[in-house]
Amino acid sequence: MAHCDALFLGPHPDDVEIACSGAILRLVSSGKKVAIVDCTGGEMGSRGTAAERKQEAVAAAAALGVTERRNLDLPDTAVAVDEDSVRRLVRALRELRPQLLFAPHEKDVHPDHVAAAQLASKAWFFAGLRRYEPDLGEPHRPRMLVRYPGNTPVEPTFALDISDLAEQKAAAIRCYRSQLAGDGPRTHLVQRLDIVERAQVRDRFYGARTGCALAEPYVVDGPVLLRDLGSLLG
Ligand SMILES: [Zn+2]
Repeated sequence: MAHCDALFLGPHPDDVEIACSGAILRLVSSGKKVAIVDCTGGEMGSRGTAAERKQEAVAAAAALGVTERRNLDLPDTAVAVDEDSVRRLVRALRELRPQLLFAPHEKDVHPDHVAAAQLASKAWFFAGLRRYEPDLGEPHRPRMLVRYPGNTPVEPTFALDISDLAEQKAAAIRCYRSQLAGDGPRTHLVQRLDIVERAQVRDRFYGARTGCALAEPYVVDGPVLLRDLGSLLG
């Protein structure tokens, strides 16, 4: 089983791309291995079938250079933080052994995103306990749990400059053709913006706040350790 450096947990296929494509592209271009683990197949979404969304997820992972994409096969709109779902994520963490775990922020209007956030907290901790379900693999706890805000704005701890990655990020999101505006009523779409526009508006906002064109917001508990001050000098 190939290990990864960073694992991105998504409630539904496309959530990770919308929020974190820039971070993934940065990691991949510096030679790091990235995995995406989706909780559900997004089968309850208003647009597209489960089969279409599966193909779209494979294409988006390829566009980002992601090494491995898995699905926990939890039910869309009914993601629960129970023993079974925690076990599924613990198994993935122990097999893929990431140093960084990226997961949704708990503050979100979509109950699946809230559940995925809580699932990440539990699995992150329990995966490191030697006596917790030893049949799921050798204990492993990622060094850091990083939250990405979803539908609800959250004040970030840090913002990642992705100004040079606008096109690549848009291309990854555009792999979700069934979720884009153009075919069908735009009223299905949150705030009447399609997912590429939504991501760009958000990233431009955090770019404007931090002094660059586009930035992705992230949240961590506690202080962030810097090895040098280079990135603060601009
Ligand atoms: Zn979602």
